[in-house]
Amino acid sequence: MISLRDLTKTFPGGVRALDGIDLTIGDGEFFALLGPSGCGKTTLLRTIAGLETPTTGTIAINTTDVTTRQPGERDVAMVFQDYAIFPHMSVADNIAYPLRIKKIAKAERLAKAREVATRLSLGDLLERRPSQLSGGQQQRVALARAIACHPTAFLFDEPLSNLDARLRLEARTFLKRLQRELAVTTVFVTHDQAEALALADRIAVMDHGRMIQVGTPAEIFQRPATPFVASFIGSTPMNLLPGKVTGGALHVAGAVLPAGALPDGSEILYGMRPEYADLALDEREDGFPGTVAVLENLGTATLVTLEARDRLIQVLVPEGDEPPIGSRAWAVPRQRRALLYADDTLVG
Ligand code: ADP
Ligand code: MG
Repeated sequence: MISLRDLTKTFPGGVRALDGIDLTIGDGEFFALLGPSGCGKTTLLRTIAGLETPTTGTIAINTTDVTTRQPGERDVAMVFQDYAIFPHMSVADNIAYPLRIKKIAKAERLAKAREVATRLSLGDLLERRPSQLSGGQQQRVALARAIACHPTAFLFDEPLSNLDARLRLEARTFLKRLQRELAVTTVFVTHDQAEALALADRIAVMDHGRMIQVGTPAEIFQRPATPFVASFIGSTPMNLLPGKVTGGALHVAGAVLPAGALPDGSEILYGMRPEYADLALDEREDGFPGTVAVLENLGTATLVTLEARDRLIQVLVPEGDEPPIGSRAWAVPRQRRALLYADDTLVG
């Protein structure tokens, strides 16, 4: 278990990289820190590892306060984006390195390195140097080194981001299976929302050093707490349309929709995922009117961009169902999937 209480980190020069982080990560949990570049993910991970000292706040691992402990005394293993494996050492020596630091006898640490290497399909590569390995193999050496020292927690900083797209998907599945087997608490940093959704038991979405929302992938995807989270999550761009309640109805981008409990005068942002809308070719009062301007083939589906008077609206339709460019069309939102925001907060 990892408990973070009121962590802040201000770097010299005044950059506030962490701003009041409160979080408890459960035993054996696969936890993702997700957010745009510069939001403080690496700083938070390095602070947990002991590589950065927090300006205020405390860090506990399994109920022991480790805030003032050295990195080597925290029993966590970090895997970096660039793997940080030693180029002059063999695969076996790289994997066994943390055990050497712990002064484990040579025979024992090489036996352990062999065992872990076999598990990660590196058994035949033990004598090679990192330069003689593929990117995916180097990544597994870094993982093997982390596993070999039996840490209480793994800390991963974008470990898949240097792999090409195909290998990255394979490594993702591999990593998830491995974490399930080992059941070691894992904090995984990524800027890739698809990676976070696919891997994590829970996700924290960060922005400007703060945690904006913490929840399961389903919660974060279905009920994003703010427009920022809504537009950051999802493999197609979220539509966020300004609207207003008048005469008991919600008027948004040319559509008239039920206002629910919202009083007259409410100004809202209406969130609609391209996946949660249908395209009609006949006029619909509950649809956003526009002209088909762009068609993007995504394989099994087509992303249709409608040009409305002062904005673009995007809808995903099954491949083959897309109307021709220039057609008049109405994007009809599925009401129960709608996300209504007022003042940056989810209200419906
Ligand atoms: P992320 O990993 O989410 O991209 P970082 O944690 O690396 O973000 O950085 C968060 C913020 O802190 C950024 O504004 C970055 O420029 C700043 N920062 C990170 N490390 C340092 C440092 N050693 N000194 C000063 N500013 C830093
Ligand atoms: Mg980073």
